[in-house]
Amino acid sequence: MTLIEAGASDAADPLHSVRDRFALPEGVIYLDGNSLGALPRTTPARLQQVATQQWGDGLIRSWNAHDWIGAARRIGAKIAPFIGAQPDEVVVADSTSANLYKLLVAALKARPGRATILSEPGNFPTDLYIADGAAWSVGDARIRTVPVDTIVDAIDDDVAVVMLTHVHYKSGAMLDMAGITAAAQARGALVLWDLSHSVGAVPLDLTGCNADLAVGCGYKYLNGGPGAPAFLYVAKRHHATLRSPLSGWLGHAAPFDFSDDYAPAADISRFQCGTPPILALAALEEGIAQFDGVDRDALIAKSRALGDSCIALVEARCPELTLISPRDAARRGSHVSFRHPHAYAICQALIDRGVIGDFRAPDALRLGFAPLYIGFADVWRAVDILRRILDDRSWDDPRYHARNAVT
Ligand SMILES: *Cc1c(COP(=O)(O)O)cnc(C)c1O
Repeated sequence: MTLIEAGASDAADPLHSVRDRFALPEGVIYLDGNSLGALPRTTPARLQQVATQQWGDGLIRSWNAHDWIGAARRIGAKIAPFIGAQPDEVVVADSTSANLYKLLVAALKARPGRATILSEPGNFPTDLYIADGAAWSVGDARIRTVPVDTIVDAIDDDVAVVMLTHVHYKSGAMLDMAGITAAAQARGALVLWDLSHSVGAVPLDLTGCNADLAVGCGYKYLNGGPGAPAFLYVAKRHHATLRSPLSGWLGHAAPFDFSDDYAPAADISRFQCGTPPILALAALEEGIAQFDGVDRDALIAKSRALGDSCIALVEARCPELTLISPRDAARRGSHVSFRHPHAYAICQALIDRGVIGDFRAPDALRLGFAPLYIGFADVWRAVDILRRILDDRSWDDPRYHARNAVT
């Protein structure tokens, strides 16, 4: 592909004008929307309005007058179509980490006589760490990891819950949600899917997969802003039986009865904990609104085509890098990763030249394509800059080798 052909693909892209909804800085090619989504142009004004009018003028009246109290359910219902769930099966709450904890403990308790959380080595760190903490706090439970291609065979009658990330944060590999869910359920286990790298970028059908449980992130493809609240999904058939170990008052059946005894809400609200962050919820709602009017099939087709074009260009022009991600776009999320022994320094040199991707230890350069605002010419230019950095070895500058706290 040439730059002219990339430009022609952008001109033919039905979503090309959607990038104008985002306040992307001049001279930056932002290939990290899978880690922190870009700022929607409307978000600062929305935050200003919620702060000055709803908080400043409305004060505590806004819990009712502006439905602050219903925001977690309202925004959860807006996320539901992204994941193929019913509106009353999703709620926004806490962080992805906290939601993993709530659902893992609930799942362990719902499968008495089974004490294993089954996952894969190399899953996202917080998922494995939280599983460790959930097993520790339930007592007499454990986490076990096996290579993901052997996961189904490893589900024995001690496995209470299988916890997997649907799109792997490093490789971008996408798992067979329907197949793994059915196999686990046939063996009596529940399945908890982490959708952090999936939601807003790949097709998801939790209802069609008969999924049990899921969590996901608000600040990646959903554009909710740094540290945005996360969401969780619990299939309706589990609402009556699964209980959150973080039995905060907003999960109570009647929080404003102020009774002493805990009685969980009958619906998905039982997985809320404490008072929600209203400013952060407003930013998340604005982030999700950027998908309004965007055809989902066109979005997914574009995501796959961007990844394909990146792989083709890097393999043609930068053979020093080795593809880690699946070549088949239907088995991949919206990011691709390449291995190089100096991936960290190369990534820093790219960032210095306005191409923002990221590095994942030990040796992966990760490039993400948020299909709402990345185009084909962006991909072409990013690979062109990568080629130049490799040619002039400018990455081999001491300042690019010093590791930052966040990579
Ligand atoms: C981004 C991400 C998280 C983030 O968890 P936080 O609680 O927001 O820090 C968790 N799991 C996966 C798979 C992720 O990609």
